[in-house]
Amino acid sequence: MSKILIIEDEEAIADLEKDYLELSGFEVAIANRGDTGLKIAMEEDVDLLILDLMLPEVDGFEICKQVRNCKNTPIIMVSAKRDDIDKIRGLGLGADDYMTKPFSPSELVARVKAHLERYNRLVRSGIPQNDVVEIRGIKIDKTARRVWVNGEETTFTTKEFDLLTFLAQNPNRVFTKEELFREIWDMESIGDIATVTVHIKKIREKIEFSTAKPQYIETIWGVGYRFKA
Ligand code: CA
Repeated sequence: MSKILIIEDEEAIADLEKDYLELSGFEVAIANRGDTGLKIAMEEDVDLLILDLMLPEVDGFEICKQVRNCKNTPIIMVSAKRDDIDKIRGLGLGADDYMTKPFSPSELVARVKAHLERYNRLVRSGIPQNDVVEIRGIKIDKTARRVWVNGEETTFTTKEFDLLTFLAQNPNRVFTKEELFREIWDMESIGDIATVTVHIKKIREKIEFSTAKPQYIETIWGVGYRFKA
C-alpha cells in the first residue's frame, strides 16, 4: 500500500484530502507543521508528498528543496495563490506537480495515482540506481561519492568519506580505533590510530548539530566508536 504524507496546516483541508485518499486505498499521515512534516518526509518511508506552501516553522519551499536533495519521492505542491505556484515553478525546486486551492479532492486523487504510477515505472525500468545509504537525515551516495546532511550537500575528503560510509553501513556496532584504522587505511599508510580520532572529529564537525553531544557517531569510552542508527 502506498504511503502518502500530507503536510498541511489547515486541518479541515488535510482531513478532507486524507479521507479521499484513504477511500482510494492509500495509507495517509498528516503533519500540521513544516518542521514535523520535514522530519517525517526525511526519515520515514514516504511514497508521495502533498505539500502546502505556507506552513508554520518551515515553509513548503524549504521542505521541497531539502527532500529533493535527498530523495526522489514525488511531490505535489499546493497553494492558495496562483502567483506562488508560478514562483515555485520558476525556482525549479523539483516538485512534480502543482495545484491551486481550492481543488476537488477527486482531482487530487487522480494526480496522486498518476504520479505514483509514473514513479513506479521509473523505479522498475531497470535504470541502475546509485548505491545509497540513508540514516536519519544523512544520505551517502556511494556510487557518486557524495554526501548530504539534512538536505545540504557536504564535502568530505576521501578518507573521511570512507570512514563515515563504513560506520554508517555498520550501524550500532562498536569499532575500536585499531579496527577502523585497519579498515580504512592500508597497512603501509603512514600514521597511527590517532589519525582515526582526527578524522572522526572532522566528520563530526560536518554532520553533528553539536560536536559536544554527537547524535550520530558516539564515543564508547575505552572501546571506540559507534554509528547510532
Ligand atoms: Ca497553509
